[in-house]
Amino acid sequence: MKTVTTIAELNSALDSHRTSGESIGFVPTMGYLHDGHISLVEAAIRDNDIVVMSIFVNPTQFAPGEDYKSYPRDPDHDSVQAGYAGVDVLFMPEAEEIYPDGFSTYVNVDGPETSGLDSASRPGHFRGVATVVAKLFNIVRPNKAYFGQKDAQQLMVIRRMTEDLNFPVEIIGCPIVREADGIAMSSRNKYLSAEERDASVVLYQSLVEAARLIDAGERSSDKIATAVRNMIAEQPRADVEYVEIRTANNSVAPAVLSGEILIAVAVWFGKARLIDNIVINI
Ligand code: AMP
Repeated sequence: MKTVTTIAELNSALDSHRTSGESIGFVPTMGYLHDGHISLVEAAIRDNDIVVMSIFVNPTQFAPGEDYKSYPRDPDHDSVQAGYAGVDVLFMPEAEEIYPDGFSTYVNVDGPETSGLDSASRPGHFRGVATVVAKLFNIVRPNKAYFGQKDAQQLMVIRRMTEDLNFPVEIIGCPIVREADGIAMSSRNKYLSAEERDASVVLYQSLVEAARLIDAGERSSDKIATAVRNMIAEQPRADVEYVEIRTANNSVAPAVLSGEILIAVAVWFGKARLIDNIVINI
């Protein structure tokens, strides 16, 4: 595995692969790698000749007061993990490489994709995500790029942006990788105390309960959202930020649910803000 930190080095590492027409799969991450990230690498290896991973804690997607400074970082461990997983080129730029002095161009996705859910409480978040992913697409020039369904709204935003701006990149969504007890893997799980870690399993359990209710014939969006909210609220360490039910393109779901729906939750446990979701076809 080659590790590079500048765009010039990245181009040198990729030039011969590009000229020989090899396909490039791209996995953008913020590092502190876990098996969720590695599952994206595995999918990229299956589909492509070369796999590029980026590790970049993107300052523009953190709202003021969020955890940009304290976001978990472990570049040495990440390099080892990425190498083991089969990444060919690891791109780990400094912030100045991506946002040099004078940087002032941003990408805004204005459709339903950026309504509700995380948009409400994280102002500017998706502008930062869309901007950095657009830049990384231009820098890496991949054939395919891999994103986790864990960040369901992010995946919708990236799909919209890729289509709207005609990026010649195929977006591949990958399933959520969970711990044995159901908790979605996340770099931010590091913030959890042992008690919060145990309590946070309620997120997944509440989504399973929603699926069970729908399976049993419940179709009321309100009733399902309330059941999920109540179940999480029974856990004293949990502070619910949202429970929302949306359609496949992230519009508010109809009162009587039908078709493909997304049930998404954001819940605070201490200083950890965790998100999780489930997609159900009715
Ligand atoms: P992050 O480093 O948290 O920005 O995540 C980088 C990529 O990994 C994003 O596309 C995430 O959706 C994806 N990802 C994070 N956690 C998981 C998970 N538990 N399962 C699948 N993909 C994930």
